[in-house]
Formats: sequence, C-alpha cells, structure tokens
Amino acid sequence: MAGRLRIKNTADKPSRPLVVSSDFRCVMTDTSFLQEAIDLARDNVAEKSRPFGAVVVQDGAIIARGVNRMDADRDPTAHAELLALRAAGAATGSTRLDGCTVYASGQPCPMCLAAMRLAGVTRVVFAYSNENGAPYGLSTAQVTQDLAVPLPLQSWAEITHLPPEDCNEPMIYKTWAERQEGEA
Ligand SMILES: [Zn+2]
Repeated sequence: MAGRLRIKNTADKPSRPLVVSSDFRCVMTDTSFLQEAIDLARDNVAEKSRPFGAVVVQDGAIIARGVNRMDADRDPTAHAELLALRAAGAATGSTRLDGCTVYASGQPCPMCLAAMRLAGVTRVVFAYSNENGAPYGLSTAQVTQDLAVPLPLQSWAEITHLPPEDCNEPMIYKTWAERQEGEA
C-alpha cells in the first residue's frame, strides 16, 4: 500500500511515532534481522573473538549466519559477512545470491562489499558505522579510502601488471570459454 499509515498515539507509549511509513512491517523486520547479527557479534565477543556478526536473508528467512573467525582460524579473510556468504552459497547450492539481503552488525569492509557485489546481493543493512568503531580500532574507512582511487594511483602496496605473451588472447580463458560452450 502506498502512502502513509496513521497510528494513534497513546499515553502509555509516548515514544511511538504518530505517523509511520506504510513499510512499517519491513522496518521492523530489518530491525529484528539486524538484532540477530548484533546478537551473533555479542556472542562472538563472549568467545573472545572480534565483535562482528552477519546474517543472510532470502525471502524473509535467515538462510545463513556468520561471525568473525579471523583469530580462531588465523584467516585474514574470515570476516563475518564473508563467512555468511559462504554459508549462504552452501545452503542454496549456488554462487549467486540475487535477491538476498545481508544484515551486518558493523559497516562491511570493501572486501565483504565486493564479495556481496560479485554474488549479486540486493540489499545491505548494517548497524554500527565506521565512525562508531573508529575509537576502538574497528573502522575500515582507511581501507576504503586506499582502494577508492584508480589502480595506478594506489600506494598501499606496490602493484605491478606484467602482461603475459598471450595476453591479447589468453589461452586459459579461451580453454575455459570453450568448455563453457561445450557444457551449454
Ligand atoms: Zn569484511
């Protein structure tokens, strides 16, 4: 339903807004899914791990969960969102997550955002921002900044492009493409 739904204010619930948008239920759902991600992050802290959790939602249901396991697995890529995406791929049997929403307790880093972009994730909702995390060393704002400029101008690492002899028609790409055609 388009437009706005009017809700009568009551004295015992003074904080309830007089007017809310018609997607009120959707907003509530977002809040509850986000709370699930925050709860996962809180439980992860209790496990002496980093304070991050994420869930993947498809058709209104959680299909995958993830918590940060960098220290536990000694895996620099084991971010909550990334592990949730892996679990979602396993749950759906697909590398595509079109139509899925990722709820993350903290603002996703560029690695996780890129993984979501590649998988076709449709919505991303997060709770704590980089600004909220910065005083605790839990912001990836600098990483985002470092990666936001064209590759030749990036200075966080020495990045070298060494084109192979067959770069105009890479044999490994050609072989792969031919196999794809054969399987189609
Ligand atoms: Zn990340």
